[in-house]
Amino acid sequence: MLVPDLPPIRDVIQRHNLAASKALGQNFLLDEQLLARIAALPGSLAGQQVLEVGPGPGGLTRALLRAGARVTAIEMDRRCLPALAELGESFPGQLTVIEGDALKIDHNTLMTGAPFHVLSNLPYNVGTALFVRWLSGESWPPLWQSLTLMFQREVADRIVAAAGDDAYGRLAVLAQWRAEARLAMKVHRSAFTPPPKVMSAIVHVTPAAMPEGVSARMLERLTEAAFGQRRKMLRQSLKGVPGALEALAALGIDETRRAETVSVAEFVSVAKALS
Ligand code: SAM
Repeated sequence: MLVPDLPPIRDVIQRHNLAASKALGQNFLLDEQLLARIAALPGSLAGQQVLEVGPGPGGLTRALLRAGARVTAIEMDRRCLPALAELGESFPGQLTVIEGDALKIDHNTLMTGAPFHVLSNLPYNVGTALFVRWLSGESWPPLWQSLTLMFQREVADRIVAAAGDDAYGRLAVLAQWRAEARLAMKVHRSAFTPPPKVMSAIVHVTPAAMPEGVSARMLERLTEAAFGQRRKMLRQSLKGVPGALEALAALGIDETRRAETVSVAEFVSVAKALS
């Protein structure tokens, strides 16, 4: 494939007057080598459908297009649209840009029901809300084949944490009970323009088999109760979940333990007993 020459992203930002908006959580990545490495994390994207949320001036977008992906990008900031349209002209037929709020759009419908990869560098609150949405629900496997998402480092640690880690909680159980989540890359704050206050990291998630006979809703209910009072013993925190204490006893899980010591597999076994 012929890869067109593009001006540096910094020039695109200047020419289109895209001063970073704090309100929209804009911290742009300008290093094309770093962007190419991020775009390579899901494996070869040649001919693959990709959903990118928050393309901004299009740094990651151009790396995805160069990798041969067919990209659908959702951007809320209409100031970025002319720069993205220009980028699309350099890769005919590969880029569709949707102006809107990614939290209000049904991604499966947008991607016309075909499998897709998700790559995104989003503000913290939006990224976490979308992450929870992508990992929730009874229907599994999902239409997405991988998630490659930039988070602030502390959130990335919570997603990949194991039982016993300080960062272990609901987010880890949600990410790991029917998916594989790994910390794929640490990204220094200085890589962004303007640099955010905290360090970042990219998490890579792929769907795994869903354990049979477990209701996602029940697992969510259980982890919500258990981690809602994470320092309390299970016999206290799970008192309000009917049948939970009996299930612990039947499974040989000591009710004096705290949620933060209960492994993902143990939560799944309790949820199964209650489902
Ligand atoms: N992808 C670019 C990069 O890596 O340089 C920009 C990243 S910047 C951290 C986040 C982008 O997400 C901004 O362009 C912002 O306008 C956009 N954004 C913020 N909230 C959004 C939302 N709810 N839906 C879609 N885009 C959003």
